[in-house]
Formats: sequence, structure tokens, C-alpha cells
Amino acid sequence: MLRKLFSRCMFETRQNLKMPCEVNTRFVILYGSQKGQAQSIAEGIAVEAEDHGLVAELSCLNQSEKYNLEKEKAPVVFIVSTTGDGEPPDNALQFVKGIKKKTLSTDHYKHLCYALLALGDTNYANFCNCGKTIERRLQALGAKQFYVTGYADDGVGLEVVVDPWLEGLWKAIKGALSKMASDKVDPLKGPVGDSPKQDPDSLLPDVELNLLSLNDHQNCKSVRALAITDSKYARTASYSASDEGTTLSDARPASPVLASQSHDTASVSTAASDTHKDGGAPHVPLAASLTCSLPPLSQSSLNVPALPPPYLHVSLQDVDSREQTVGHLNNENVHEVPIERAIQLTTGDLVKTSLLLELDTSAYPTMTYLPGDSFDVFCPNRATEVEDMLCRLGLQDKKHHQVHVSLNKDTKKKGAQVPSYIPPSISLLYLLTWCLEIRTVPKKAFLRALVEHTGDTVQRRRLQELCSKQGATEYNQYVRDPGLSILEVLTAFPSCSPPLCLLIEHLPKLQPRPYSAASSCLKHPGKLHFVFNVVEFSACSGRPVGRRGLCTGWLFDLINPGKPKCSGSHALPKIHVSLRPKCSFRLPSDLSVPFVMVGPGTGVAPFIGFLQQREKERQDNPEAVFGETWLFFGCRYRDRDYLFREELEGFVTSGVLDHLKVSFSRDELEMEGNEVTTSVARPRYVQHNLLLHRQQITEILLKKNGCLYVCGDAKNMAKDVNDTLIEIIKTQLQVDQLEAMKTLAGLREEKRYLQDIWG
Ligand code: FAD
Repeated sequence: MLRKLFSRCMFETRQNLKMPCEVNTRFVILYGSQKGQAQSIAEGIAVEAEDHGLVAELSCLNQSEKYNLEKEKAPVVFIVSTTGDGEPPDNALQFVKGIKKKTLSTDHYKHLCYALLALGDTNYANFCNCGKTIERRLQALGAKQFYVTGYADDGVGLEVVVDPWLEGLWKAIKGALSKMASDKVDPLKGPVGDSPKQDPDSLLPDVELNLLSLNDHQNCKSVRALAITDSKYARTASYSASDEGTTLSDARPASPVLASQSHDTASVSTAASDTHKDGGAPHVPLAASLTCSLPPLSQSSLNVPALPPPYLHVSLQDVDSREQTVGHLNNENVHEVPIERAIQLTTGDLVKTSLLLELDTSAYPTMTYLPGDSFDVFCPNRATEVEDMLCRLGLQDKKHHQVHVSLNKDTKKKGAQVPSYIPPSISLLYLLTWCLEIRTVPKKAFLRALVEHTGDTVQRRRLQELCSKQGATEYNQYVRDPGLSILEVLTAFPSCSPPLCLLIEHLPKLQPRPYSAASSCLKHPGKLHFVFNVVEFSACSGRPVGRRGLCTGWLFDLINPGKPKCSGSHALPKIHVSLRPKCSFRLPSDLSVPFVMVGPGTGVAPFIGFLQQREKERQDNPEAVFGETWLFFGCRYRDRDYLFREELEGFVTSGVLDHLKVSFSRDELEMEGNEVTTSVARPRYVQHNLLLHRQQITEILLKKNGCLYVCGDAKNMAKDVNDTLIEIIKTQLQVDQLEAMKTLAGLREEKRYLQDIWG
């Protein structure tokens, strides 16, 4: 908020100096977002636009009635993410389809000038593919770029690219607008600017946009004066209750936090605070932690993000909603199915726990799937964590009250909407159990908002540090990388008491977790198998005790493998599942096409389905010619986590699988076929085995028109396999790196190199 207010007063100076009054101030923001990140960046731009004297029109790409690119003359800013295997987010699908139409002429968007921020994750194939596709097409259709495109990588932290990109955006937009005004006949003779570092607007004087520096006492004074009179964003955790209901968002009196704005200076240090009381030397702790910083950060001035404007009105009504069931899960695509069997596939404690569940889907004959398909499992938040959250909000005694969420009419948030994933007439308990991801890792904007509800000065300063530009490394180290949940953050900052509406504004939808089918309907009619590792989060600063992943921990508790009932069939509970839309991770339709499968650990799951399917196809087509099949599997120890060992060896015996290559990363001496290999020479990971068989792989892929499938861990394995394939192509075809990469990209394009990766 301070930054916002400061920018506002700076703006008046800027506007007088910079923007001739005839210059249009309107620009358009369009976003395509799967999980809400692109949307929240787009919304942030829309909010901040006002501070820069600009008028933003914000729309989602699927709201085509709200914008018209065919006639748009104002600068357009695209913020788009990429999902799955390089696909556009659901709400950008139609737009991308439309823009790709071959019938569009090369000057279709000649009138258009744009900037684009693409979000992606380098752990996955086709990094930022949706953004790149949109950009390619915009340029092919004559649109002109007015600001360099940003490619933000969630694998290392989006903010590394997003923050500087946003910083430079305003100058670029103003540059584009000024250029248009001064060049009315042909506003787009050329790009106005091509780098955030370059000044695209010769009309702009050298007035910096001035993020608030909390060490700058002059600035602080003037901002403080403004802040104290502006109670719009001031909130406290208190709320007033009435007989009809409890209004949470209306009851936000001027916050005591604002009254103590002076603490917002860098002289308040998390490390050294309160240590001068005894007159002794400041005590500086030896190590930084989630709640404690060391110099230089603890003494640094901070650039904190603008306070996200509140936009929801939440009230609780004393209507007992105890009868509420999993109502919104009862749509036609979600089925409640019993767990028929649960088998632990691993032994010992030196390996991750892998479990196989068999679901009985026979009650839903339409629920058919093919090997390679995946499906969603709907899991609730952990009951103990929901209780802790209720406790933290001071709302335990109201958990069965009905929640009413509506739009705060006075909000400054552009495009504000009541989240679509909050159904009407639900109880508070239901909301926290089934609708909101209370395990979410709080984004910096959320931490920024929490500052306003934190009473203790030291804790406030630390939260400011964690969301500041200067604290980016510590945010990654203590919040993002360990996957700290919002509840864990609240526990670590006990004086922080956010109101319920803030949580609803910032917590994303509780997403179902996808799993790959590990069976074939042909072999197991009416059944659906899947395999998963129980995800473990270890203890860290802010998490005194380790915990399990949300869904895998829940499934583990449901089947409770330690108890004898695990083997008995009908004692097991039911879960809600839904098949995911059709995918391209499928067996070749031509039986004679050879294929290679690479699936270490639980990545083997879809290949069990492939091989079961192939087994039936062989039985049904004894005369047919079948392409050769290879499986590269990897695990730690032969006798602990070699998943599906018997079944895989059975496939080899029956001839369904021609080559089974297994690598053990932790066994000292290993048998490869009948040969004993020493630990020096033995392949430790799947990619080593691929290298050993490079000649055959090349032949299958490049001479026999075969396919290669990779499934499993996105973070390391898929990258290593990808690099190994490039290496294989390089050496086998005697080509350089670039040529090898192109060959692999060609295979991907032809859908002969397919990935189903996660993590
Ligand atoms: P959460 O509480 O959601 O925590 C997940 C976090 O844990 C991640 O952010 C990541 O940082 C970390 N993590 C550590 N190890 C893993 C891991 N192995 N997988 C995911 N996250 C990890 N998982 C399977 O075990 N078997 C499958 O067949 C399978 N198929 C999938 C198919 C698709 C198309 C996709 C997108 C994912 C698939 N996953 C599969 C991953 C699965 O959906 C879940 O993400 C995983 O089980 C963790 O869920 P959770 O709720 O327990 O963890």
C-alpha cells in the first residue's frame, strides 16, 4: 500500500511531465491462466495501472465478447501460462485455435501492438509453448511488439523474470501510447521498444517509478502521512458478530498496524530487534531462519510489492449446514468408487513407499479408459489442519455456519469475481475441507497482505522481507523450496491473524490430483489400477515435524497398510475420481510399430497398462506382426522397490516385452541379464542404460519409425533422458548439438517422442 500511495503522489509529477493530455491512456490486458498465476499477474497490472495514470481493460482470453483484437488500436498486454505437455490453459484454448487459423492474412493484426509475458516451467517439455505460439502467430499476422517478451520459469521462480519485466512494462506502455499519439497516421512504423532495459519512450523524462524504499526517511514521512489518512486497506483480524450473521469484510476498522507505520522502516531489524533494551551490544543470531534474518537483509531497505486490494465480502450465517456432503463432487463426470484392493509394492525404509490401488469402476460402464490415460482423485484437506485453521481464525464454534461470499462493491481490484469454485450454501467446514487449498505455498502478494494483520513489529518486518525484492532468495529458501503451507507460515508468525475473507481471496482452488492408469480394461474389466509414491516433506525451518503429501498422505491413511484389513477387499472406503480428457500418450495404433518405454519408479505405471493391453492384443491377433518393445526401468534396490518385478518378468517370458533393462541406483553389484557388472561400469539410472543401447534406440526411432515414451519425475529424470537422447542422436548420426535437438523436436512434433511427467 505504501508503494501504491507513493507511486500515486509520484504519478502526478510524472503525468504533468510526461504524458501530453491528448495521449490516450487506455490499454488492454488479456490473460490465459490454468492455476491462477497468470491471472493474478494480469490483475496486479490492472490494479497498478491506475497509479501510472493508465486505464487498463482486463479480460480473460475466453471472454471474447469483452475485447476485439480485430479493431484494437491500444497496446495489448498478454499474460499466458502453459500447461501439460505445452498446451494452452483451458481458458485460452479457443483463442489459440482461432489465431492459428491458416485462412488469416499476414496483415490481419497489422494494427495491433503487443507485449507478452509467458509463464512456464523448464522442468516440462515445451517451455512457455502457449506464449511462444501466440507470439509466433501475432508476428506472422503483422502485429508489432512494443516490449520484449518475458519467459518466466516456475522451475527457478517466476519472479526472477516477472519482477523486472513488470518494472519495465510501464515505460513501454507509455512509450507505445505516446508514439501512437504523435504518429496518428501510422502508429506502428516499428517497435516502440524492444527491451525493458531500453527506454522505449523518448518523451519520458528520467523520473524513476520509485518503489518505496523503506530506508528513505523523506519518502517515508510523506507516505506515512498519506497512509494514515487512507484506511481503505486497513484491516484487523477482528470482526463483529450479529444474530443474523457475522460480517467479516465490513468490519475492518483502521488498523492499529497503520498507526504503527513507523515500524515499517528498515531500522526495525528482525535479527537485532529488542536487543538494545538492556543497553548491551545488539545480539545477532547465528543462523537465519524462516522467522529470523541476518544482516545485510535485516538492515536493508526494502522494496515491497503493492498491497493487493481486498475484493470479497464474507459473512457467516447461523444456519446449521452439517448435512452438507461432497455436493459439488456429484457432477456427472465425478464418480464415487470403492477401493477394492491396496498393495504395498515396496519393502523396507530406505525407499519411498509405493502403493498400488485397485478401484472397482464396474458400477460406471461408461468409465472406460485406455492405457496412457490419467484420472483425477479428489481429496479433502487434512481434518487436523482444517481444525487448526479454524482455530487460528477463531472460528471453531462457527464451522457449521453457512458461508456467504460476495463481491466487495468498492473494490479496486480489476475484474474481481467471486471464485467459481466456492459453491453457494456451504458450511465453513466444507469450504476449508473441500474447496480451498489450505496447503498452498503463500505467494509474495499473500505475505504482503498478511503484513497488514500482524501485530508484532519483528514479525511484520520479517514478512515484509520475505515478500520484498531484497528478500527473494530467502523467500525461495524458507517458503517456496520447502513447500511451506500457509498454515505453517501462520504458526511461525503467531501475531498474524488474517480474517477469513483474506484467506478466500488468496487461497487457490483445492485441485484434484491426477494419476496414470496402471492397468488395461481388456485385462481388468471394471477395474482401474494406479500406483503412487507417498510424498514426504521433511522437517525444516517453520515445519518442526515432517508431513506427507496431501493426497498421497490421505490415501495412505485411508488404506492404512499397517492394518490387516488392507488385504480384505470390502472393508476399504470409496473415493471420488474423474477421468481426465483424452490424451496423446497412447500405444501406436499400428501393432507393427516398435516402441521404447522409459519409466523409472512409479513412472512405470502407464507401461504396465500398455503391456497388459499388448498381451491381450497378441492373444486376439495371433497372426499379426508386432513391433519390438523395450522397457527401461530404474529403482534403488532390486529387493526393495523393483515395482511389478514379477509381472514385468512375466511379460518377457511371454514375449510381450522383448527387452527389459533395469538399473539400480543404490545396489553395489548388479546383474544385468546374466552378466555381473561392477559398480563402476553398471548403469545406475535409466539414461545410462539408454546410452548402452543407443544403437538400437536410434534404429527404432530414426529408421523404423518407432516411438519413445517417457513417464515419471519431471524434475531430474525427464531432463536427463532428454539430454541423453540428444547425445545419442549426436553420436549416432554424427551431427552437432543443434541438429540433434532439431531431430528430437521433430520426433516430438510427430508424436513419436511422448512424455507423461510430473513432480
Ligand atoms: P502435495 O501435497 O500436492 O505436494 C506435492 C508437492 O510435493 C509438489 O509440489 C512437489 O514439489 C513435491 N513432490 C515430491 N515428490 C513428488 C512426486 N513424486 N510427485 C509429485 N509431487 C512430488 N503421481 C504418482 O505417484 N503416480 C502417478 O501415476 C501419477 N500420475 C500423474 C499424471 C499426471 C498427468 C500428473 C500431472 C501427475 C501425476 N502424478 C502421479 C503426480 C500426482 O498427481 C501428485 O502430484 C502426487 O501424488 C503428489 O500429490 P500430493 O497431494 O500427495 O502432494
